Amino acid sequence: MVRVEANRRDFLRWLATAGAGLAAAGIVPACFAQEAAAAGTDVVVVLGATVVDGTDGPPRPHSAVVLTGDRIAWVGPAADLPPLDGARVVDGRGRHLVPGLWDTHTHGIDYEQLWPPMFLANGVTGIREMQGYAENRVTRGKIARGELLGPRVVLASSIVDGPVSLLGPPVTRVANAEEARAAVRTAAAQGSDFVKVYFYLPRDAFAAIADECRRLALPFAGHWPYRIRQLDAARAGQRSFEHLFGSPIATSGRRDEFLARLDATPFDPKAPRDFFNLARELDRQATLAYDPATADHYFAGLKAFGSRLSPTFAVNRVISRPAETYAHDPRLKYLSADIRAYWADRLPLFAPGTPEQIAQQDAYFDAQLRLVGEAHRAGVGILGGTDCQNPYVFPGFSLHDELDFLVEAGLSPRRALRAVTRDAAAFLGRADTDGTIAAGKVADLVLLDADPLADIRAVRRIDTVVTAGRVLDRATLDRMLADVEAAANRPVAAANARSPRLPVHGCC
Ligand SMILES: [Zn+2]
Ligand SMILES: [Zn+2]
Repeated sequence: MVRVEANRRDFLRWLATAGAGLAAAGIVPACFAQEAAAAGTDVVVVLGATVVDGTDGPPRPHSAVVLTGDRIAWVGPAADLPPLDGARVVDGRGRHLVPGLWDTHTHGIDYEQLWPPMFLANGVTGIREMQGYAENRVTRGKIARGELLGPRVVLASSIVDGPVSLLGPPVTRVANAEEARAAVRTAAAQGSDFVKVYFYLPRDAFAAIADECRRLALPFAGHWPYRIRQLDAARAGQRSFEHLFGSPIATSGRRDEFLARLDATPFDPKAPRDFFNLARELDRQATLAYDPATADHYFAGLKAFGSRLSPTFAVNRVISRPAETYAHDPRLKYLSADIRAYWADRLPLFAPGTPEQIAQQDAYFDAQLRLVGEAHRAGVGILGGTDCQNPYVFPGFSLHDELDFLVEAGLSPRRALRAVTRDAAAFLGRADTDGTIAAGKVADLVLLDADPLADIRAVRRIDTVVTAGRVLDRATLDRMLADVEAAANRPVAAANARSPRLPVHGCC
């Protein structure tokens, strides 16, 4: 033991002199190592893996990644390491190490016994949660304080919509600029990381949100607000557009005709879904008249304003197929009975029924894949989000499906992986701490048994996940999933550990 302690000190001393990258990251290596030694911080070395670090650099075989506490302390050739007595070694030989994955469109993290472990078991170490409410703000705090093991959470405000809305509580409805500004101030006071905007915002309310967000340096993102041209919303600062709503119309030769029709259609408070259904159908029809010149204008605008498209193919795929398609998905065993029932009830609201509708929706989904491929080639930033908690979109698991779809759309496996690591971190303003494998970054890592650059499906072959420096090996991940399954099959209120008064929040 004494010998090991001495060697650990030697190792930390070596790290202090070798850790030039730490200095670059603003950490003084010597102090850092001394602090680590004094605190008895664990040193973990992922040894021998090929590092695929989320940048466009080449993969680095036979690497070593040294972790101290919750940070990456050193990355370099395995051959350069001194003796490792006193460090925990994770065998990376023959494996690929990638940054922890981000799902940038999620719901339901406050299902504390189900969602956080499902994310981590699938290598998702960060999420952008798209609807803020009291329960998930509490969950975010527990994870941040280390009281609950889970992905780091970037959390939306309450959804801000117009006086007519598809959504019930806890959505925030604003009728004018004054109420819109108040909603933004409330969002800031609640510690929201961004403001989520929605379909039916009136024009003046939207403009007030953009202005108040600018004043408070709070980003805003969300759905296409139908009363605003998408490029005007992008110019005003909307950071992302979710689900591709409006993108088909904005890239169509029938754009002006369809927008005029929507402008002339009121939001009906008695049947709020009618407008949404019309817009969705016009989006579908718009794909039949895709116009490259119109599309180029739209893509150039999004790129210039830095607004991202968030296709959420995982959910879009589900709603393009007959409702019974997913009824026997093996992953349903991880969900409690109320969620399964909600999914079964809700999907028929969206899913096609007749053979003609099924063929139409199938073709529409293919058109969405093509549109995202064109957007990507035009330089528009693409996000990897799933919309999990919506029917048959599973926390963690479905991000792997989303990566498949991004590759099908035309992103290379490298760019798809970048979308959910480095690009996601940059989008969320966390480029300094997240998204790549480099000294000084947070130790969020996924060790894979196969090469994701050769086949993106390799992201499913997880050997080890590291979340904020904590190592979860395969046996631990399997145990976590077994615990999720057990919790899901306990009585509903106990399984969800969320106030039983609350309905399952869907949509959004
Ligand atoms: Zn959503
Ligand atoms: Zn949404």
